[in-house]
Amino acid sequence: MHTSRELTLARLPSGVPIRTTVHAYGEGELVDGGDGPELDAPEDAPVVYTQAAQHGREVNGTAVLRRLHERLVGEASETGAEGGPSAADLDGTLVAVPVADPLTFDRVSYTTPESLDSRQPNMNRCWPGDPEGSLHERMAARLWRFAGEADAIVDLHTGSPSMATHTVYMRGDEACRGLAEAFGADLLLAEAAGDDADTEWDERGFAGKLRVAATREGIPTITPELAHSKEIVPEAVAAGVSGMVGALRHEGLLAGEPDAWDGVVARNHLGRAIADDSGLFVPEPDLAVGDRVTEGERVGEVFDPTAFETLQVARADRDGIAYSVAREATVTAGATLVGVAERIDEE
Ligand SMILES: [Zn+2]
Repeated sequence: MHTSRELTLARLPSGVPIRTTVHAYGEGELVDGGDGPELDAPEDAPVVYTQAAQHGREVNGTAVLRRLHERLVGEASETGAEGGPSAADLDGTLVAVPVADPLTFDRVSYTTPESLDSRQPNMNRCWPGDPEGSLHERMAARLWRFAGEADAIVDLHTGSPSMATHTVYMRGDEACRGLAEAFGADLLLAEAAGDDADTEWDERGFAGKLRVAATREGIPTITPELAHSKEIVPEAVAAGVSGMVGALRHEGLLAGEPDAWDGVVARNHLGRAIADDSGLFVPEPDLAVGDRVTEGERVGEVFDPTAFETLQVARADRDGIAYSVAREATVTAGATLVGVAERIDEE
């Protein structure tokens, strides 16, 4: 069974409502409640919540949910052309929100301008939201009514073309780790939280990420970061669809086991090569995201565009995986040239 409903997330100053669409597949259905749509699902069957584009330029997640929709309810599922599951096969309910933040989606951006939300320009810093808060806080609170009832959450994001595909989960949380493995990306980033995290984590408001807020509520949650934003890339969409199928198998909505995972676990937000000075950055020609790097290894150079001299030979600050490589050459002092995720053996 498939049902969908329009959902009003908040209201703009002009009175225009900010709306998005919620889908439900499988045993549960969306019904009209007194205060907007509600999910009516059997108590004993699992519910998975997924959303895309809470950073509106990260459109590949939206394309993933469209392809998944076609497989669950479209002709492909009826004819079996893609061998995909159908919504009738789901033992439980999948709730999907393809555009979680219409404000950033329409601006093809990551954050909103101050005029829309001066307190929380980044929607992924204010979960579980506040029904009486700022625009983003209200929008998050409205979506949390679905997300907060789920047994597992997949929050689809995408990185830039210069970032390796990976899945983030909370370090030390077994259930999140299992879901991350089921999604299938080769690189898993185990992010520490709370007391174990560094000060940057606190300063950047990471406690308000959907993944962190939900994990703290006991809902296993992962953030896949598929390749590329702004541009729909077939490989990223395919990786996302197969990841969703793996996650649905892991949660028992689909029959079968997810593919066995055989990748690397690393931790992020610490290692990098930083621009000592402003100029133009040229990465090493053979350096690609996902490559192993060692401490002191040359990763590129920054040169002065007018006098031509080399300002800096950039080197990795530790052993790890090249998790991001700046592809836009114009860099300012302090910018991250190469991000290095440090390989760890998870506890
Ligand atoms: Zn994002």
